[in-house]
Order: sequence, then structure tokens, then C-alpha cells
Amino acid sequence: MKIFDEQHEMFRQSVRAFVQKEVEPHVAEWEEAGQIPRSIWPRMGELGFLGVEYAERYGGAGADFLTTAVLCEEMARSGCASLAMAVGVHTDMASPHLYWTGSEALKQKYLPDICGGRLLCAIAVTEPGGGSDVAAIRTRGVRDGSEYILNGSKMFITNGVLADLYFVAARIEDPRGEAGPRGRPDAAGDRQRHRGISMFLVERRTPGFTVSRKLDKMGMRASDTAELSFQDVRVPAENLLGQAGVGFYQVMRVFQRERLVAGLHAVASCDRALADTVAYVRQRHAFGGPLSDKQVIRHKLADLATLVEAGRWLTHATCVKFQGGDDAVKEISMVKLFTAEMAQRVAYDCVQLHGGYGYMREYPIERFFRDMRLMTIGGGTSEIMKEIIAKQMAL
Ligand SMILES: Cc1cc2nc3c(=O)[nH]c(=O)nc-3n(C[C@H](O)[C@H](O)[C@H](O)COP(=O)(O)OP(=O)(O)OC[C@H]3O[C@@H](n4cnc5c(N)ncnc54)[C@H](O)[C@@H]3O)c2cc1C
Repeated sequence: MKIFDEQHEMFRQSVRAFVQKEVEPHVAEWEEAGQIPRSIWPRMGELGFLGVEYAERYGGAGADFLTTAVLCEEMARSGCASLAMAVGVHTDMASPHLYWTGSEALKQKYLPDICGGRLLCAIAVTEPGGGSDVAAIRTRGVRDGSEYILNGSKMFITNGVLADLYFVAARIEDPRGEAGPRGRPDAAGDRQRHRGISMFLVERRTPGFTVSRKLDKMGMRASDTAELSFQDVRVPAENLLGQAGVGFYQVMRVFQRERLVAGLHAVASCDRALADTVAYVRQRHAFGGPLSDKQVIRHKLADLATLVEAGRWLTHATCVKFQGGDDAVKEISMVKLFTAEMAQRVAYDCVQLHGGYGYMREYPIERFFRDMRLMTIGGGTSEIMKEIIAKQMAL
């Protein structure tokens, strides 16, 4: 299935050139340092890679979602899943809250610097007490004159150490004056539990906001992940994004984009791992010939290639549906589930095909194995995807 036109392919060439020259040579060093250098952001901004779908008047390129898809594929094909994720968070998971629901004044104030890579974004929904159950968030916002006062903490926040702007989910008193519910999941139905959740834009330098700690992770090590603390953080009321109390639906809307982006990342990362593995089995000899001559190895690679191709078709077909504006919740959840689980199988088998070298840090396949483990957890776990799919099937 061909979903990209000539313009998309031209854009792909420019992203690929950047990745080959300015990303690939540095991946190992960034992973070791546990940090992507800050300078990569203004550089990507200069090249027009950040905020490709945003209107030109805000510094974007006014392009379509398929252009974003190309960017995701090429970033992930670099073998630097950390950077692909960090960029995805900035452009597809955090800043859409501003673009879709922020006031004109806020958009004019922040978007040009977001697109230029001068301001880095993070999305802060998950809390130490839980991530899957978004409706259970405990961070609180209390209105005080022309401000809201935020208190609470957030966990596992990508770009959290370095970000300048945080898009924060907090529960506020609802417009009718009732406190948002804290109760059991089935207290008074789902809508009751969602009530009060709202999205805020918080600048890093706001007093009371602190990065409590940088977290030490299994994979995606060049992407920083933080725990955040909010203690009497005063946010101007105009930094409330969208409508008070309906932030849950805003979060769910952006999750659709996030999960599709995760699918694109998984497929392209697997493409790269398969290519590396094919090259390896061609040059590695055992029992008098290259590994690639052994039927069991050829068949294993054929199985993996078929799996990845199935993941690509599902993902691309869903990208087209999403771009067309149709409801694609079921398909997007399937993309997230299928490609995340696919990546586990590809990672396991590709390490196996590398033998002992697959276990060594000097081989990118070892990093791929660790990085891909996140795919079934971040952005909504496989179990939660199954729940959503089952609900969509009216089960
Ligand atoms: C590296 C990394 C980066 C992340 N980046 C961000 C970020 O930038 N912003 C952000 O807000 N969050 C981020 N997250 C958080 C991520 O979205 C959550 O980890 C994820 O949603 C799962 O939440 P949890 O970790 O609290 O697990 P839990 O919700 O505690 O779940 C634990 C286990 O129970 C299962 N489970 C839970 N509920 C059910 C159920 N109803 N039925 C069956 N099984 C269930 C889950 O599937 C999981 O296997 C990140 C996480 C990681 C690890």
C-alpha cells in the first residue's frame, strides 16, 4: 500500500539526510551520556522538523499528518529510539494540547519557539500512584482569583528534566462548585470520575515547580525521564487549556495521535533491526557457510519480515483513516497493541540471531532489545489497548 506522495518522499529524503549525518554517528555517545544534547532541538527547528502540521503563522509548515508519519518513520529508523520518542513527545503528545485547545494569545506566545526548538515540551499525565487509570489523577488545581494553584506530583515524564513547558493534567473544582471525585472506579460511572480533570500549561521557571529526580531506565537511555513536583505552583488562569473540567477528553484525543506515532516508531525501528540482522547473518559463518544459508534462520527472518509488513499495513491504513478525520479509536488501539507486541518478538528473535554478540553493548541490536521493551507499557499498556478494543466491540 502506497500512502505517501512525492512531496512526502522529498521530505523523507531531507529527514534521512539529517539523521544519517547528525544523529546516527552520535547515538552510542548520547545513550552512554544518558542525554540527547540540547543543541539538537534548535537544529531540528531550523530544518523545519518540529511542528510540521502547525500553521505557518506559528512557525509550522502547515503539512498533513502523513508528513508527521514520515518524520516518525525516519527518526525511528535512525536506531535512536530515544530521540524518536523525545521528538514525538514534543511535537505529537505535548504541544498539540496548545495547538488544539490553547487561546490565540498563548499560541502566538509559545508556538514559534516550540516549532523552532527553542522551547522544549513535556506532557505530564501519569502520577506515582498510577498511569493506566487517567481518571484517578490526584494532582489538584484550585482557583484563586486570576490564578490556579497546583499541587501534586507526576511520574515517568519524558523530556521532564530538560523541558521548558509542561502540559499538566490536574483535577480542579468543577464549574458547578463540586469537588472532583476521588472515589472508587465505579463510584458514579466513568463520567463522574473524569469530571474536573483539566489541562494546564506550566512554565518551568514557575516557583514551586521542581524536577524531583531524573529516573534511571532500562532502555531509551538518551531520552530523559523525570519525576516532577508541584507545590503551590501558581499558574495564570489563561494557561488553562480548553474548557475547565473536560481535560480527560482532551488527553484521550491526544492519546490517539500518540499511539499512532508509537506504531510508526515500532514498525520503523523493527525495519532497522531486521536490516541489521539480515546483514549480520549474511556475514556470520557457522558449520561451513553463512548463517543466512540455514533454512531455519531464513524462515525465522521471513516470519519476522511478514509480521512487520502486517504491522506496517495496519499502521498505514490507520494513518489514512486518522488523516481523513474519521473516528479511528479501535484501529489506533489495534495499531498500538499489534506493533508493540510485534516489536517484542522482533527484538527477542533478532538478539537470538546475533548469538553472543546480540548480548553485547557494542551491537545496536542489544539497545533495540532494551528500547523496545517500553512499547507495550508507555502511552497505554497492551492490556489497556485490549480493554479499549473490547469496549469498541461493545463487549
Ligand atoms: C520511559 C517512560 C516514559 C513515559 N513517558 C510519559 C510521559 O511523557 N508522560 C506521561 O504522562 N506518562 C509517561 N509514561 C507513563 C506511561 O504512560 C505509564 O507507565 C503507562 O500508562 C502505565 O501506567 P503505570 O506505569 O502506572 O502502570 P499501572 O497503571 O500501574 O499498570 C500496571 C500493570 O497493570 C496493568 N493494568 C492496569 N489496569 C488494568 C486493567 N484494568 N486490566 C488489566 N490490566 C491492567 C497494566 O497493563 C500494567 O501491566 C512513561 C512511562 C515510561 C516507562
